[in-house]
Amino acid sequence: MNGMNYLMNTYNRFPVVFDHGEGARIWDKNGKSYLDFTSGIAVNVLGHSHPKLVETIKTQAEKLIHCSNLYWTEPQIELAKLLGENTLKGKVFFVNSGTEANETAIKIARKYGKKKDKNKYKILSAHDSFHGRTLGSLTATGQPKYQEDFKPLVDGFDYFEFNNIDSLKQKISNEVCAVILEPVQGESGIIPATKDFLEAVRKLCNEYETLLIFDEVQCGMGRTGKLFAYQRYGVDPDILTVAKGLGGGVPIGAVVVNKKADILEPGDHGSTFGGNPLACSAGVTVMREILENNLLEQVEKLGIYLKKKLENLKEKFPEHVKETRGIGLMLGMELKEISAKDFAKKCFEKGLLLVPAGNNTVRFLPPFVITEDDIDQALEIVKECFSEFENRESRSETR
Ligand SMILES: *Cc1c(COP(=O)(O)O)cnc(C)c1O
Repeated sequence: MNGMNYLMNTYNRFPVVFDHGEGARIWDKNGKSYLDFTSGIAVNVLGHSHPKLVETIKTQAEKLIHCSNLYWTEPQIELAKLLGENTLKGKVFFVNSGTEANETAIKIARKYGKKKDKNKYKILSAHDSFHGRTLGSLTATGQPKYQEDFKPLVDGFDYFEFNNIDSLKQKISNEVCAVILEPVQGESGIIPATKDFLEAVRKLCNEYETLLIFDEVQCGMGRTGKLFAYQRYGVDPDILTVAKGLGGGVPIGAVVVNKKADILEPGDHGSTFGGNPLACSAGVTVMREILENNLLEQVEKLGIYLKKKLENLKEKFPEHVKETRGIGLMLGMELKEISAKDFAKKCFEKGLLLVPAGNNTVRFLPPFVITEDDIDQALEIVKECFSEFENRESRSETR
């Protein structure tokens, strides 16, 4: 398409131009339809063109799109209340993306530490974590491949091994102001924390007067069958970061803090767009839909259904499937022999969207409005793809 060359070459895109969507389906310019098990990377939790979300955005756009944080608006107040009440009973700051939510959390942690001791500024994060692309969040992202070209990074960060409390014990000290982690790691291949680990991390953070930050940008907003994953574990963070699913596709992120971490004052932080009425009205509709329309039960039920089907595939194709992991509708299938990228490409050609992740894993992140029938269709495509890879292998063996 004329004009593609004007975009920076930052993504290896699939060769398709999408045009419109409805529910769990999305259509390209030529009218070919795809089953969307990507949800724009865990964003379109209500599926595409959800009538209530569309209506909300239309109505709000006609009233007021933006007016800045110099003033109050009802959608922002309402969304803050919904988030605060349903999480840490805390306060909320609105941003526009996941990485900004984490930057905000990092700044809060630094200020919190500084108030206690001038040397209490270190932040610990997990190897193989993902927290975003701006420099603070990038430094917290424990993956050298994302960091190498952008050094020097931000001072005062160090890393521990996920799900390994001894590794964290070796790194923690009175100089640490915060520990940040994803209760279910997303980008590195859908790796849930163990309950023991999160409980031990919480205890350790209390002991060292360190803030605990949970990055639920991917695993939050109902993805795991609870509004937030930490609620499944029964371990509360001091700071919760949210984005992706919050606006159902409208860019918005949020930081929720408990009383201890509620320390920002006028002038400390800000965002021109953050929490504007258009984005917040979308957030209110998404939250209400999730909380009041049985969507969490739906995620739980469909998640179990999908996971069972993936387990069946593992039994059927033990030479290709190494492991299936995840909670709710945040599921991963780790492959062997076939690359996750090639596999996602093959599924794409057959009309199913999946996202590759680290660890040679393909992610299944469907919208919460999918049906068992959609899952059956998707898994039929996955099965076909495995069979084709097998045929190709046996062909090359006989050659
Ligand atoms: C996607 C993601 C981010 C970054 O969000 P952006 O909106 O792309 O900045 C941060 N943390 C986690 C866990 C994510 O999955």
